Amino acid sequence: MIAPPGAGKGTQGVVLAEHFAIPHIATGDLLRDHVARATEVGRAVKSFLDRGELVPDDVVLQMVRQALEPLKGGEGWILDGVPRTMEQARALYAIAVELGMTADVALHLQVEDAELVRRLLARAQQTGRSDDTEDVIRHRLELYYEVTHPILEWYGERGILVSVDANRPPEAVGRQILTALEVLRQVIDRGPDAERKPVDLTGLGAAFGRRTQG
Ligand code: AMP
Repeated sequence: MIAPPGAGKGTQGVVLAEHFAIPHIATGDLLRDHVARATEVGRAVKSFLDRGELVPDDVVLQMVRQALEPLKGGEGWILDGVPRTMEQARALYAIAVELGMTADVALHLQVEDAELVRRLLARAQQTGRSDDTEDVIRHRLELYYEVTHPILEWYGERGILVSVDANRPPEAVGRQILTALEVLRQVIDRGPDAERKPVDLTGLGAAFGRRTQG
């Protein structure tokens, strides 16, 4: 799931996980849990979260690898909040290829900025998240457009991008997502894995940047 902060990744991630009976792995939740438990990782990342900055790639990628590894050979997974940068997208793709767990779908939730800020400020009143203050919200949004949004192009070129208008109420958005994914599932689940032709995508398109051959 790729979306700006406040677009409803968490809400829809839970709906999706229940519907498909697969785990929902949210890097933001994992990181906040580390901070709450004051683990070594938590102490190292707290100030990044408070300021709305991205935590270093190696921390996130190791966390994601640890979360994905036990799911190898399983029914699937939902990743929420990662990749956040093109570098993370490349690294995550390499990990997923290694584990035989590449993404079938990249789900993008599109929401207008004014609506995002409204939702995040409302959430701040309820949850007291340290990064839901107006300044930090604006910074997180800027970061999203600068480094995260461009990744969508890469998923578009891979042909796995599903973009949903998520300005509407959560139930309407959830219904649209599930309908779209159920239709796609018929294509994706066509045959056993062994019958699917492996595709090497590392040389694909400008979105994959400097690694493109030729
Ligand atoms: P989220 O709950 O997805 O809004 O994430 C909350 C915060 O966790 C972000 O503002 C970042 O500080 C950090 N974070 C979550 N996922 C990542 C990621 N993939 N890369 C770097 N930082 C992340």
